[in-house]
Amino acid sequence: MDVTSLSTAAYIAASALFIRSLGGLSSPETAREGNTQGMVGMALAVGATALLLPQATLPILAVMIVIGLTIGAALAQRVAMTSMPQLVAILHSFVGLAAALVGYASQLGGEHPAGAEGVIHSLALYAGVFIGAVTFTGSVVAWGKLEGKIRSKPVVLPARHALNLVLVLAVVGMAIPYAMNPAAGLPLLLVMTVIGGFLGWHMVMAIGGADMPVVVSMLNSYSGWAAAADGFLLQNDLLIVTGALVGSSGAILSYIMCKAMARSFVSVILGGFGADEGAAPAPAGTGPVGEPIATDVETLVKELAAASSVIIVPGYGMAVAQAQHPVCALTKNLRARGIDVRFAIHPVAGRLPGHMNVLLAEANLPYDLVLEMDEINDDFPETDVVLVIGANDIVNPGAIDDPSSPIYGMPVLHAWEAARVVVFKRGKGAGYAGVENPLFLRDCTRMLYGDAKKSVDALLAGLST
Ligand code: NDP
Repeated sequence: MDVTSLSTAAYIAASALFIRSLGGLSSPETAREGNTQGMVGMALAVGATALLLPQATLPILAVMIVIGLTIGAALAQRVAMTSMPQLVAILHSFVGLAAALVGYASQLGGEHPAGAEGVIHSLALYAGVFIGAVTFTGSVVAWGKLEGKIRSKPVVLPARHALNLVLVLAVVGMAIPYAMNPAAGLPLLLVMTVIGGFLGWHMVMAIGGADMPVVVSMLNSYSGWAAAADGFLLQNDLLIVTGALVGSSGAILSYIMCKAMARSFVSVILGGFGADEGAAPAPAGTGPVGEPIATDVETLVKELAAASSVIIVPGYGMAVAQAQHPVCALTKNLRARGIDVRFAIHPVAGRLPGHMNVLLAEANLPYDLVLEMDEINDDFPETDVVLVIGANDIVNPGAIDDPSSPIYGMPVLHAWEAARVVVFKRGKGAGYAGVENPLFLRDCTRMLYGDAKKSVDALLAGLST
């Protein structure tokens, strides 16, 4: 078998592994297997690509791979689970930058085929650079917002939708003269890159608080389409397939998250849907008033011992406190007493899709106790005690009854419908969206202040005596 046929066979095998990997990642039970398939597929893809390269370039490739592997392994070892979304966002920016640089390399390399093939080549180059530039700056802003380096509050420029539309039309308009004479198209490409970079920045800067998860998965999708465009440019089938898989799976995830958060998919694609210009800000002094009522471990032990049904709502604070193991031990303890304990998982709990599922799986919690928001939201009225462990935005009733709230319209878990709600948090810290939570002032609510892990440990000790 010659080298080309060998690498084609490896590409087909890698594509199949990527598809299987995506299937595996769709459920916690098969996620590990899916991850392994993805890694094997990627190793195969890199190996098969190396086979096609001129021998003289292989040492350079080997050095770059070693550098990349070292940085990647060091980052993966060090990154805290709570910082994963920032890492994902910055990795998307690398994909965007790489896609744009591949386009520039091709432009400067001077290979511009003639005829219809030339038009396809130029348009693929143009699209790859544009999507790459949007993804690069958008992902850097997303990283900054998630890392707390940039304020998460939306920055809304006047007439932003009109501005975006004019810029997109300019980019589309410039594609025609570029495709007609790509050899002299460098200035057009540069102008388009600046516009693309600005659009990416503008789009994500205009997105606020609780809407960031959708943006991260949208940028994931963009990075896939940029890679697919480069696949056409480089005439590499595997890059087209892989880019399309990333692009479409990112788009599907964004769509699912938009549905879960009652947001419009189209407005996300257009950017800036987080700031609802129509909603009037709450007049000063009309927010929830009063002081939350604190409780203590002893009281909660008694309430739990008398309960017959408990729902646990985990959130970002459980990840920060790394409280998943004691929370699972608590679940075991309560279930051993005959209490029905279940978990309610909000689609955007934590800081990345599936964050809570991953933590609970790590602590070996049986999957059948973990229910999605829609499966459990109607059960709160029949629940004796709800334990809100480090969650805030996802149990905010303002999302339902306060039109002036920035998260108004986002579906939330109806924890307040239970007889007793106990919120585990350290103090008065707001959630990611930075809004007040009227749940803390409801009659049914008590606050158990302190680090979630320490509080759950104390609760376990109290239940064991
Ligand atoms: P929130 O960010 O709303 O609230 C977390 C709460 O945890 C804080 O109020 C904080 O209060 C508390 N907390 C922090 N550390 C601890 C600790 N060690 N022990 C106890 N409590 C702690 O989290 P939710 O999960 O409710 O909501 C997720 C938010 O993140 C949503 O707004 C979502 O849109 C956004 N988001 C989600 C992403 C995703 O993909 N899932 C991605 C990006 C953003 P205190 O400081 O007082 O302890």
